[in-house]
Amino acid sequence: MVLQENNKLLSIIIPAYNEQDNIHRTFNTISQILNESHIPFEILFVDDGSRDMTWPRICELSAGLSEAKGISFSRNFGKESAIFAGLESASGACCVIMDCDLQHPPAVIPEMYRLWQEGFEVVEGVKASRGQENPFHTFCAKGFYKIISKVTKVNMSDASDFKLLDRKAVDALLLLPERAPFFRALSSWVGFRTASVPFEVQERAIGSSKWSMWSLVKYAIRNITSFSGAPMQVVTFLGWLMLLASLALGVQSLYRYFSGTALEGFTTVILLQLIIGSVLMISLGIIGHYISRIYDEIKARPRYIISKRCGL
Ligand code: UDP
Ligand code: MG
Repeated sequence: MVLQENNKLLSIIIPAYNEQDNIHRTFNTISQILNESHIPFEILFVDDGSRDMTWPRICELSAGLSEAKGISFSRNFGKESAIFAGLESASGACCVIMDCDLQHPPAVIPEMYRLWQEGFEVVEGVKASRGQENPFHTFCAKGFYKIISKVTKVNMSDASDFKLLDRKAVDALLLLPERAPFFRALSSWVGFRTASVPFEVQERAIGSSKWSMWSLVKYAIRNITSFSGAPMQVVTFLGWLMLLASLALGVQSLYRYFSGTALEGFTTVILLQLIIGSVLMISLGIIGHYISRIYDEIKARPRYIISKRCGL
């Protein structure tokens, strides 16, 4: 009987960073929906080094309810790390990853679960709309996903972290040794039989988004470079472009030299210096970025450090 239940168990993984007011609300909303649909579940909160009452709230819950479990990091390691920690500790036959602020509507989970029972191994939540978001943010996000879809060849234009993964996909993801995993892309990269479910992004009811513009820029760069070497090819491309320009200018300079008007063109010299200088610097920067990523990977530090657990 127990085994049979485990075969159907759904683990919900929820990264939480300073979400004290959302823990109970999120747990209650999800558990109500899943109970109504008769889906056996556990809800695993991963406290990503919160500085508020998030962890005590999780412990409170798990003391009273066997479905509630929690892991607490020793500091803030970021959402990707929290997702992977959740996947590692989940015991379900499938896992759903979702945000703590209910922006990913839990009403969609039974549908995802049904698709999983039909034999789909990865069920992706696809944003039907981006919800209330400032237009500049939408513009940047769209641009980022265009670039990343191009370079990774995985279409991610409306991708989100809201997904259901079968145990097979979870185990495949956990085998990847990367220090800086990009969950959204890797969960497509692993393959498997995939279905998608559209959902409307909800308003965040309590608290505020944990992302500043700057942290989003860093997130974009980190994820593009963790998934693709294409930016380094840009360096080569710029090199060829400069070579072509130098051929043209070379011919012109020689012509001037032989026709006796060589002293002019000082402006060209200055401009060339500036252009070549900046292209070289940017190129070094791009290569440097990859070297620092190699450095990070080679140190092979753990993705996260767990300090406390409850309910597990
Ligand atoms: N989150 C996290 N670690 C962080 C930042 C965010 O675990 O360093 C969690 C957060 O608690 C939430 C989810 O990631 O459950 C999405 O964060 P948020 O709602 O702030 O992002 P947005 O919805 O604005 O993209
Ligand atoms: Mg949110």
